[in-house]
Amino acid sequence: MSNRPTNLLLASLSAADLNLLGPHLKPVELQQHKVLFEASDSISAVYFPYDAVISLVVTLSTGEAIEAAMVGRDGVVGASAALDGRISLSRAIVQIGGHGVTCPVDVLKQAARQSETLHALLIRHEQVVYAQAQQTAACNVTHTIEERLARWLLRARDLSQSDTLPFTQEFLGEMLGVRRTSVSVVAHTLQQAGFLKYARGRIQIADLEGLRQSACECYDTVSKYYDRLLGNFPNR
Ligand SMILES: [Zn+2]
Repeated sequence: MSNRPTNLLLASLSAADLNLLGPHLKPVELQQHKVLFEASDSISAVYFPYDAVISLVVTLSTGEAIEAAMVGRDGVVGASAALDGRISLSRAIVQIGGHGVTCPVDVLKQAARQSETLHALLIRHEQVVYAQAQQTAACNVTHTIEERLARWLLRARDLSQSDTLPFTQEFLGEMLGVRRTSVSVVAHTLQQAGFLKYARGRIQIADLEGLRQSACECYDTVSKYYDRLLGNFPNR
């Protein structure tokens, strides 16, 4: 593993805590659409994404899969299992393919037993994921589809560090829990305003400031939770 991990949670660790994990972290390529685990699965490995973006989604018996939280370079996927959470509460699916590092859950569990600071960080991280899911629940019933779409694209951009996002309108509708036709209308408005461009199943953010203006407060609220989690990390 490189000396300078590009996962911000790992980068925020003290040298002592990083030493507990570092030798066990293996590079992993996370391919788009790969399911890391389903709800109720027991979790055997945790993932610290670099540029990959993972959605935690709630699946319903009718086939819908609505996103509750998005995890990427500012977090870790599956760490609740290292805190004795045992099973996954949601499906974890790779929304934007990319890279990261992985280690067995037992390694993280053991490290968290050895280090109080690491244990505390993992608990704070799970709280932030919970806070994000709460925010999403409030957002989905309160804010407009345009605000929600803008919020969603901004977070995906922050995590992937790319202005080009591999999402179709069908997919966005599914994640936001709205009809594809509603997403099309809103996407068209954002495109007309010059904030977004579309090409072959990809969305390009053309005017970041404009898109920020279009997003609801939930984008900033969630960003602030992560800033606080990551403490004084100097590059953020
Ligand atoms: Zn909102």
